[in-house]
Amino acid sequence: MENQFDVIVIGSGISGGWAAKEFCDMGFKTLVIERGRFVEHVTDYPTAMKESWEMEHRGKLNDQTLQENPVLARCYAYNDYTQHLFVPDNAHRYEQEKPFDWIRGYHLGGKGLMWARQVQRWSQNEFDSPKRDDYGSLSWPINYKDLAPWYSQVEKFIGVSGNKDGLDEVPDGEFLKPWEMNAAEISIRNDIKKNFPGRTPIIGRCAHLTEVKEIHKKQGRNACMARTRCERGCPLGAYFSSNSSTLPWAEKTGNLTIHTNQIVSEIVYDSKSQRATAVNTVDRHSKKKRQFTAKVIFVNAATINTNAILLHSKSEQFPNGLGNRNGNLGKYLAFHNYRGRVNAKFYGHLDSYYYGRRPTSIVIPNFRNIRRNDVNFKGGYLTNYTASRGGSDPIAGNKPFGTEFVDQAARPGAWHVSMYMQGETVPIRENEIKLSLKKDAYGIPAPILNVGYTENDEKMIADFHQQATAMLKKAGCVEIKRVDSKQAPGLDIHEMGGARMGDNPNVAVTNKHNQLHDCSNVFVTDGACMTSTGTKNPSLTFMAMTARAAHFAADQMKQGLL
Ligand SMILES: Cc1cc2nc3c(=O)[nH]c(=O)nc-3n(C[C@H](O)[C@H](O)[C@H](O)COP(=O)(O)OP(=O)(O)OC[C@H]3O[C@@H](n4cnc5c(N)ncnc54)[C@H](O)[C@@H]3O)c2cc1C
Repeated sequence: MENQFDVIVIGSGISGGWAAKEFCDMGFKTLVIERGRFVEHVTDYPTAMKESWEMEHRGKLNDQTLQENPVLARCYAYNDYTQHLFVPDNAHRYEQEKPFDWIRGYHLGGKGLMWARQVQRWSQNEFDSPKRDDYGSLSWPINYKDLAPWYSQVEKFIGVSGNKDGLDEVPDGEFLKPWEMNAAEISIRNDIKKNFPGRTPIIGRCAHLTEVKEIHKKQGRNACMARTRCERGCPLGAYFSSNSSTLPWAEKTGNLTIHTNQIVSEIVYDSKSQRATAVNTVDRHSKKKRQFTAKVIFVNAATINTNAILLHSKSEQFPNGLGNRNGNLGKYLAFHNYRGRVNAKFYGHLDSYYYGRRPTSIVIPNFRNIRRNDVNFKGGYLTNYTASRGGSDPIAGNKPFGTEFVDQAARPGAWHVSMYMQGETVPIRENEIKLSLKKDAYGIPAPILNVGYTENDEKMIADFHQQATAMLKKAGCVEIKRVDSKQAPGLDIHEMGGARMGDNPNVAVTNKHNQLHDCSNVFVTDGACMTSTGTKNPSLTFMAMTARAAHFAADQMKQGLL
């Protein structure tokens, strides 16, 4: 009996935490299986209160660690304060047919402990454009209105700071008070708005408690103090994570069981009942195998591991992976294109300064291909910018230090303006995850990643560079420099696809309820289900999809259909 549940959720990160919360709230006995260790909110954030002078290298990593982890070393959030939350390069190895920087967090809470918390809703245009402009080989089976109530439910619970801007490209949500733009950012915003009709810079919406409502008090969370040490884990619970929010909430219902250190190797399919009946795991330490059963299985191991688990779930009926009748499981992997950046200086408002730190940037919603394909590439891009002064922050562990710092603080100089793109990539069949013949220490095949940029991405980068330069020029910026980081796919940490949603079972792996077309009691609600990538940071959409699918599955269970 101890291995039998109503629902099994594989993965405890941002999406898995939401599945657990919804099912436990609805009274279902729910098991969350997590491959990594347990991370207790507050007590397991060892560096959260550390100052730079308490760290051996003032927060920087030593040369040996950097040399041993070339992939992680390229991730901006990887440092001495956070390294214990990232999966080292030599653990759970994967093969790269093309360079792919796979950034992972294997512990309770997943990448939701280290994420940057940017949460903008998708627009109807993002759901429409693959079909309208004919890319990605699949249309979305849902619309904005299908997700809107779930976005609201998620936003109220997690707490999202933002401004109601009334823009179609970033629909408004349930917001707590917004962060403020500084004088230079406002000046740049005004000039962009005036000179580029249809482009309205807004303050980025982020999952931080700028106000603490009753629902957040019930979760035991507190207001954000703008420490911007978020990636170490926040003892205040001021930003949303599974650890501070959904999992403790689910636990209070008495319906939650969490098994950590259990690596899911496959899902077991029974051809007689045509359903998945069990989940097999391997213990991370003892390598002991276990099996758990449930009526419904939610796969939330994050895009690549979700695809890997399904591909490895082979049976007579599905020799190429569970639900892979059409051969598209693992294909059409897509990501976000962050390669383009433009840096500049701004000499206006030199008598202005700003106080404190702010956990978000300014967002210019996508302005390309809104009603029709009107440029030489498909899809759109979102533009972010910030303006800051003074350059370095010795509290954060950077130079300068001592008198040099005092001098610099007294003469902060020009504003540094940085603008960067977050571009949609077009899903193509060749971009894929497959399984290697080589097995890892647990007898599970290692993933092979074969994902690259396309010509569409190059055209989009060129357009971003031109447009960003034009916007900054009009805003009075000078010394404008274009950068192409040439970063590999994966470093965006927004991988999506492989088990995409669609009405056509000959192309899509999941249907409009996130169920596998060919195995109705298995649901995929993390990035793997995303038909296209849109331009927005994806996690809010994963959460809304998960809540929606959980309620659908619950209704089906109540009707005896699952
Ligand atoms: C530095 C950084 C910045 C980011 N910034 C943003 C942002 O601003 N906005 C945004 O929307 N997104 C952001 N992201 C991405 C965001 O973190 C992910 O989109 C999100 O965490 C995905 O949720 P998930 O539940 O699919 O996966 P995760 O949160 O990664 O959770 C997956 C869980 O599954 C577990 N798991 C994996 N395989 C198995 C297995 N075989 N068996 C059992 N358990 C398994 C993992 O250990 C993990 O705990 C950022 C990520 C990082 C690292």
